[in-house]
Amino acid sequence: MTELLVASRNPRKLAELQRVLEAAGVTGLTLLSLDDVPAFDEAPETGATFEENALAKARDAHRATGLATVADDSGLEVAALNAMPGVLSARWSGAAGDAAEKDRANISLLLAQLADVPDERRGAAFVSACALVSGAGGGRKETVVRGVWLGSIVREARGDGGFGYDPVFLPVGSSRTAAELTPVEKDAASHRGRALAALLPALRELAARGAG
Ligand code: IMP
Repeated sequence: MTELLVASRNPRKLAELQRVLEAAGVTGLTLLSLDDVPAFDEAPETGATFEENALAKARDAHRATGLATVADDSGLEVAALNAMPGVLSARWSGAAGDAAEKDRANISLLLAQLADVPDERRGAAFVSACALVSGAGGGRKETVVRGVWLGSIVREARGDGGFGYDPVFLPVGSSRTAAELTPVEKDAASHRGRALAALLPALRELAARGAG
């Protein structure tokens, strides 16, 4: 078995990658989270793009632990806001509090910002970049992929599922917001699901190669 570090403390992200690997029949990888390895300095996410942030996170964790590492960075791009909040999605409102309070404040701010934007210009996309860093010396390998989920921003939050901006994101072709989808439906369509699917060839190769 090859150990693969998922540079996150979010059990949902580990579980999602586990499901993707199982569905694709990739065996030979044991997933670890940041809670399973000794603590190291985690640099703040200051990159201008999702790719930069994902790669920086994966490189830091790989350097500190010597383990093959996958990291992701994601967010919401809103066309009428020139692709913002983008890499600032998590802290868009600047509000303090727990995750649910921050989500509510981010959504309120976004809806207020878009109040006068007509329906035909409310296009948005969830974006996820995933980076895999593995190997050492001449065998070092870096792969970065992107998954995109297209939709639009509704005028009122709907649904209790998911997290973040899910209650105001209406996927293209759907009459339900992302927060009204089941977890299985969301996995199958989401930006993260698509990015992980794009990373599968590199993960399959890692499982076969068995490098750190
Ligand atoms: P991170 O990649 O976990 O740092 O997520 C960045 C932020 O983007 C989150 O805090 C959410 O606000 C937003 N975001 C990312 N993915 C999703 C999603 O699937 N649904 C809703 N919001 C998301």
